Parts: sequence; C-alpha cells; structure tokens
Amino acid sequence: MAKTVILGSGFAGLTAAVRLKRRLRGEDHEILVIDRSTTFVYRPSLVLVAFGHKPVRDVTFDLTATYRRLRIPFLHTEVQEVDPESKTVVTSTGPIAYDKLIVAMGEKLAVEEVPGMADYGHNVCSLSGAIRLREALKTWSGGPAVIGWSQFVQTGGPAFEVAVELRRWMTKRGWGTPIHFIDPLPKIWAPAGSAASTFMQQLFDDRNIVRHGPVQVQAVERDRVVLTNGDVLPSTLTIVTPPFRGVEAQRSLAGTNKRDWLETGRDMQSVQFPDIYVAGSATAFEGPKQAHTAMLQAEVAVDNLAADLHHAADARRQYAHEMSCVLDLGQGQGLFVKKSLWTDEHQVARVGRQWPVAKAALAYAYVKTPVFKRWGFSVPQ
Ligand SMILES: Cc1cc2nc3c(=O)[nH]c(=O)nc-3n(C[C@H](O)[C@H](O)[C@H](O)COP(=O)(O)OP(=O)(O)OC[C@H]3O[C@@H](n4cnc5c(N)ncnc54)[C@H](O)[C@@H]3O)c2cc1C
Repeated sequence: MAKTVILGSGFAGLTAAVRLKRRLRGEDHEILVIDRSTTFVYRPSLVLVAFGHKPVRDVTFDLTATYRRLRIPFLHTEVQEVDPESKTVVTSTGPIAYDKLIVAMGEKLAVEEVPGMADYGHNVCSLSGAIRLREALKTWSGGPAVIGWSQFVQTGGPAFEVAVELRRWMTKRGWGTPIHFIDPLPKIWAPAGSAASTFMQQLFDDRNIVRHGPVQVQAVERDRVVLTNGDVLPSTLTIVTPPFRGVEAQRSLAGTNKRDWLETGRDMQSVQFPDIYVAGSATAFEGPKQAHTAMLQAEVAVDNLAADLHHAADARRQYAHEMSCVLDLGQGQGLFVKKSLWTDEHQVARVGRQWPVAKAALAYAYVKTPVFKRWGFSVPQ
C-alpha cells in the first residue's frame, strides 16, 4: 500500500485527486489532499467579481464538503516545507509522511518585488484582490489608469479583460481618458500567436487603450507608475498583475531554479525526485500558466504516477504544452485562442458571440454542479 499526498487543491490538485481516486479504485492505496484554504476559487471569474458582475458565492465552493462527497481525505493546513530525503511534508499542524507526492500549490504573487505595489497597486489574481478592487472602484472618480502585467508574469489574459472592462466602466460614466497598458513581451500577447496579437492591437486602438511595451515595472506610487525604461505614467488607478514565482513551501524541491519553479519532464515527474510529480503553475514550463494547462498536466501526472504504483511497463503519457482560453471582450463578444506552445501548429484565434456564452456556462458548471468534481475533466476555461 502506498500513500499519495497532493499539495494544493486548485485546478491541478482537484483534478489530480479526482483522477487518482478513479485510477486506484478498489485498491489498497491511500490519498490525502492538503490545502491551506477550504475554499476553491474559480479564478477565471475574478474579473467579474471585481467589476461587480458576479457575487463571491458564484465563483467559489467549499472544499471540505466537496472532498467529503468524493470520499477523499482532505486536510486543511498550511504546507511549510517538503523534505524529499525523509519523504515528509512539514505542515503548520505537524509532519506528514508520503510515498508519492503531487505538488500543485500554484504560484506566489510576489508583490514585494515591486516597490509600492502592495500599497498602491491592485490585481485580480486572488479573491481578496478582486474584492479590494471592487471596493476601490466604488469611490474612483476617473482619470488616467495603468493596467497590465509586470515582469515574470505568466498569465496575461486577465489583464486584457480588466482593460476592456475598465474601458466599459469609464464609457458608461462618460470618462474618455486613455488607459495605459504595460507588459514585458516583445509583441502584445505574443505567446497566443500572431493572429491573436494583431487582433488585440486593433481592439486596443479602437478602445483607446495605449500599449507600452516591452517594459518592466520599477515602482508603483500613489499617483503614477515608474517603468524601467525611465517612462513615468500618471495613474489614478493601477491594476497590474504582480511578478510570479514558486511558493516558499516548494523551495526545497526547486534546486537551482531562480524563481523556485519545479523542473519536470514531459511526464510531469520531478527531474530530481522520482517520487514527486508536479502539475499546474508550480511547474517550471515557460509560457502561459493556465487552468487549462494545470488540468492537462494533472491528468498526465496522475496517469504516470498510477503506472508507477502498478509497476506497469506501459509507455508513459507525455504532456503537450498548449494554451486554450476565451477572453471576454464585452458587448457580447469573445475571443477564443488555442495554440500549441512548443510548436507553431494548431493556431486558432476566433471571435464570436458563442465564446463568452461557453465561458460563462463552463464557469457555472464547474462551480455549481458536481460534474467536474466527480469526473475531473480537463476543458478550456
Ligand atoms: C483573473 C484570472 C483569470 C484567469 N483566467 C483564466 C482563463 O480564462 N483560462 C485559464 O485556463 N486560466 C485562467 N487563469 C489562470 C488560472 O486560474 C491558473 O493558471 C490556475 O489557477 C492554476 O492552477 P493551479 O492548480 O496550479 O493553482 P491554483 O489554482 O492557484 O491552486 C493552488 C492551490 O494551492 C494552495 N496552496 C498554495 N500554497 C499552499 C501552502 N503553502 N499550503 C497549502 N496549500 C497551498 C492554494 O490555497 C490553492 O488552493 C486566470 C487567472 C486569473 C488570476
């Protein structure tokens, strides 16, 4: 009998738990899921919370009740460290031994890396951030705004949605001041491919959203944003995604990786520790970190981990890095983008009214119905 411990229960951890339970059905193996929160946050809907379109209850669900229904043991505690030598997870409520480990603790939002960002910046990357922005918008009286993402960010989509929503918010109130958009990429939304990039530039031009890039953020101040190229952008509202890095609790597994990401092969097995698999934002893969990729990686990790437990000699599953998402563009329109990230194949960028409808339906199904929680499907978000 082996005990598999899953660290983190976001998109990757929950998918891994559900799939592993199915894979090991009827066998004498143990699974334990650990998360420091009892609330699952459906992060793709946080922009809607910030702009007052959705209440918090529509983007969250309770993990304790979910795991009780799934009959998977769940422990609400904070992971402090992993000791791969003794195969122990150190938590704030004591040590836990494991035989196999799946690390799925997402990313750390390193606001402290940009001076002033914690005090004067907003972001929609966490539930508390979205709620704080919602409150700030209630008293914001317009003026220049700076939106975008800072260096080391690997999830660009939300900032586009924020820029579009903010423009809508301002137009409704008759405010025409420009929105400044900053990002560190050579071309606007470069990883999504040239069609998506050209489309976004046109959309920005149409909606008076001025892109500055490639640039990095040096400091966020009360009334301006200072960029590393020396430019200073006046700002009465700054909504910039903070730098990403791996969470502190996985640092002991990160080896020489400068941002504490965990290196794996395409089979999602740690290159350094064979009993450890990694899925989701915790991985060291370049390119966008998405719910979609997190779920695909979790599936591959679980299939290979289960094969290890079964001593199966089958060919190991390999992960193919791809992005797939829908950007809500307002006015009932959406942009669907799908692109392989390791090759130039499978580039899709389509605009239409069906995409926001599909995105909203998926969010509803994920949060409100048991279907994904029971079957752990991976789908574009
Ligand atoms: C506003 C916004 C919009 C987005 N839109 C899309 C979209 O449209 N499509 C898409 O595919 N992706 C989207 N994403 C990206 C997507 O949400 C993330 O890539 C995804 O959440 C990553 O999943 P994960 O499981 O790796 O990490 P997470 O979902 O962040 O889960 C990590 C879990 O680990 C837990 N944890 C962390 N540290 C510890 C610790 N020390 N101890 C115990 N538990 C811990 C956390 O509580 C959390 O539950 C969006 C993100 C944001 C912020």
